[in-house]
Amino acid sequence: MLKDKPMENTDKNTHHENNQEFIGLQVNKGIDKPDTVNQDAIARFKRTKTKALGVAEYVEGIRNGNRSVLGKAITLAESTLPKHRVISDQVIEQCLPFAGKSVRIGITGVPGVGKSTFIEAMGTYLTKHGHKLAVLAIDPSSERSKGSILGDKTRMEQLSADKNAFIRPSPSAGTLGGVAGRTRESIILCEAAGFDVIFVETVGVGQSETLVHSMVDFFLLLMLAGAGDELQGIKRGIMEMADGMVITKADGGNEIQATAAKAEYRSALHLFPPSVSGVAPDVLLCSAVNNTGLPEIWEMVKKYSTKTKENGYFNKKRAAQEKYRMYEAIHENLMGAFYKSSEISELLPSFEKQVMEGKTSAHSAADILLAKYFGAKS
Ligand code: GDP
Repeated sequence: MLKDKPMENTDKNTHHENNQEFIGLQVNKGIDKPDTVNQDAIARFKRTKTKALGVAEYVEGIRNGNRSVLGKAITLAESTLPKHRVISDQVIEQCLPFAGKSVRIGITGVPGVGKSTFIEAMGTYLTKHGHKLAVLAIDPSSERSKGSILGDKTRMEQLSADKNAFIRPSPSAGTLGGVAGRTRESIILCEAAGFDVIFVETVGVGQSETLVHSMVDFFLLLMLAGAGDELQGIKRGIMEMADGMVITKADGGNEIQATAAKAEYRSALHLFPPSVSGVAPDVLLCSAVNNTGLPEIWEMVKKYSTKTKENGYFNKKRAAQEKYRMYEAIHENLMGAFYKSSEISELLPSFEKQVMEGKTSAHSAADILLAKYFGAKS
């Protein structure tokens, strides 16, 4: 192997890692920087890259549709550092007047149902029809695994390269406020940047659906044909939340099964109480691979949006979502402040111990700790 082979190019051997002890590797000697490279320009570029933006620069960049600034603003909104939050809150506040003019669509379904393939196909269909699409994700796995199944770079390749689409991977692990991270804030920022369709994607396996439902106008449930509800882990409650359903992968010999599933789900939906939106949810077929069913799905969303705007439900729901967000923010801030308090974090271990040893009840421990916290505040 390389170890025994004499190295032919003596020039390469000048690098110390080309010694015989480094097997399997040949390291080329680097070249000097040519004089033609403008060092001043490089230094300037580095400075502008690392320079923190001010509130006005963020807002201007977002309003101009600058994706890099938009991405940075979302990162800032997701940050738990108080100094970042101060800037971020101002940016969001100033973006609010320009937000709200989109249709927000939640997309859910079990892993493997075809969410990313659907988003890629539907997203491309929408950008081809003059829309600007932002794709955000709520990833319940991020907190546990610290990794992100939804942030995979290989997903949605075509859409990632589309200049009318903006794809934001899942919020990073451990963001304050649980799995939702700051998706609501990200929606506002994307809308202010001119995106008129927002997709919020989540894995259909837990509480994240309720969260997504509380921040979108239209909740779309993707289902597989012939897999059975239990197998897909889709609870009745999630089906009840859906404003529309799509049977995916209706292609390649699977069409008959998909059509049968469509009929089945349509009759299942009839058994539910009438939808509060005033628009009965429909079930459609789609093949993201063959690009079929996409116009019909978009028509369904548009019809829902028009009808709920007419009957007042659209705005009523958004107002209720804002109210919900206010309470959510109060809870987040209270919890954050409580656990960050040095007095409380000093007391917690001994209270935990007392509770675990049965010396104090859980409730009285909580009462004492809260009284101490609020006593110290007042
Ligand atoms: P996700 O986990 O819900 O995001 O699902 P993916 O989009 O990653 O799709 C899971 C698998 O189903 C992949 O192997 C896809 O190629 C396949 N798939 C997705 N959409 C379709 C479709 O419309 N037709 C067929 N035949 N396969 C599909």
